[in-house]
Amino acid sequence: MSQTQERKQIAILGAGISGLSTAYHLQKAGHSVLLLETSQRCGGAIQTSTSEGYLIEHGPNSLMISDQRLLDLIQEVGIDSEIVHANPAANKRFIIKGGKLQALPTSPLNAIVNPLFSLKAKLRLLREPFTSKRDPKGGTESFADFVRRRLGPEFLEKAAGPFVSGIYAGDPNRLATRYAFPRLWALEQEHGSLVKGMLKKKKLQKQGKGDPNKLPKPILCSFRNGMQSLPDALKEALEEDTIKYGCEFGSISQNPETKRWSLNWRTSAGATGMGTFDHLIISAPSHKLDELELSDQLQDAISKVTQIHYPPVTSMLLGFKKDQIKHPLDGFGMLNSLSEKSKMLGAIFSSTIFPDRAPQDCVSINVMLGGARTPEHANMSDSAMQASVMDELRRLLGIEGNPVFSNFIRWEKAIPQLNLGYGTILKQIEQTERDYPGLHLTGNYRGGISVGDCILNGMTLSEKITFQTP
Ligand SMILES: Cc1cc2nc3c(=O)[nH]c(=O)nc-3n(C[C@H](O)[C@H](O)[C@H](O)COP(=O)(O)OP(=O)(O)OC[C@H]3O[C@@H](n4cnc5c(N)ncnc54)[C@H](O)[C@@H]3O)c2cc1C
Repeated sequence: MSQTQERKQIAILGAGISGLSTAYHLQKAGHSVLLLETSQRCGGAIQTSTSEGYLIEHGPNSLMISDQRLLDLIQEVGIDSEIVHANPAANKRFIIKGGKLQALPTSPLNAIVNPLFSLKAKLRLLREPFTSKRDPKGGTESFADFVRRRLGPEFLEKAAGPFVSGIYAGDPNRLATRYAFPRLWALEQEHGSLVKGMLKKKKLQKQGKGDPNKLPKPILCSFRNGMQSLPDALKEALEEDTIKYGCEFGSISQNPETKRWSLNWRTSAGATGMGTFDHLIISAPSHKLDELELSDQLQDAISKVTQIHYPPVTSMLLGFKKDQIKHPLDGFGMLNSLSEKSKMLGAIFSSTIFPDRAPQDCVSINVMLGGARTPEHANMSDSAMQASVMDELRRLLGIEGNPVFSNFIRWEKAIPQLNLGYGTILKQIEQTERDYPGLHLTGNYRGGISVGDCILNGMTLSEKITFQTP
């Protein structure tokens, strides 16, 4: 820490990957950090368990690394040797259309020759660079409207729509392009076209004038023992006793003169604690904010933030003997086209992507159900869910008999939907942070839902606090 930088006292609520990354980078910058978590573990949505030789990812199955700083962090916390790269076969993705699997294009150029799209759709794709830049609704255009306008309705139905299910379990008619897909939105704003923008960015990157942290090729990976290794390694890299588990909080308040934050807590082990802090970072999911004892005024100030919708998702892992399945499972997985009537959102061919995810003579398939468009599918009983999904899997993959293993993980509130209207919510967050100095609201509902984005956002927040003038 340089002489001009001051060591600050910081409390962070929530030890998911956002809170852990923020805590790690703040400690590295020399600050005093306390990380307070309501549950008995760290990692939040990232959780791995094993059963009968199967590796079960409760939340994220993989990590996409496209930024050098993520690789550096993984090395710093000592788990670079545990990285497992995705099988190159995972580049292939299937979509379900008319009850059949069809391979998705692997690149914009491949979309032109891929039989998935009609000639009309291909001609429409070729027109993209000549489609004029327009955001008819002033930055509040839905993703479905954006894709229809730039790439045509068929591309929405067969590629972009399924992609939205895979990332957000979301509804493309409700997600706001500007906030849910900021990089795509920026391509149009800055270059007038997605294709032109991508080509320009590639060229700049080649000339060494692009983002210095961007890797030449993104790396899709996990860790030998699953994704939980990442939060575990961050936890180990923190100073001893940084994290307190099983916390319940009393009232949280800010001293109007000193602007310092006071909070007190009791852990499930019966220990009590209290402290005052220069900064209070809340990295709990936004729907948990109204459970905190904040002043009425502060609770009002963030009232819209607590209303961000998180639809339910159930993640069902099914195991089969290899000889039960005709399909080679030679891809990342399969997603439904928008108009497909299916109980599933899609499925990941887990044991194809990473080794040692199933016993030697078996394979595992991770089926996702629910999401913003079909939340009711996440709430079926285990037996009804398995039976209806098996009907579909038998037809799609040529499966004989029943699974030899099944496991169900239910997320009542899975993934925040950055829907139309999110711009107003973001303004409320920014205004609240101005009105309450030292308060920071962070987490996957702000700045990207991927694990990589959450880590990078933690890094950025740490820099902001470190270099902020008092
Ligand atoms: C089913 C599923 C699949 C996913 N798949 C992928 C994927 O393949 N790739 C990818 O990159 N991303 C994926 N994601 C998204 C990614 O995992 C999450 O966006 C990310 O892990 C969220 O991290 P977070 O720290 O912001 O929030 P969380 O993980 O939700 O952590 C928040 C933490 O805050 C704690 N908490 C709650 N209330 C309080 C409170 N009042 N005080 C203190 N602590 C509190 C919680 O217990 C939790 O530990 C997936 C998510 C889900 C649910």
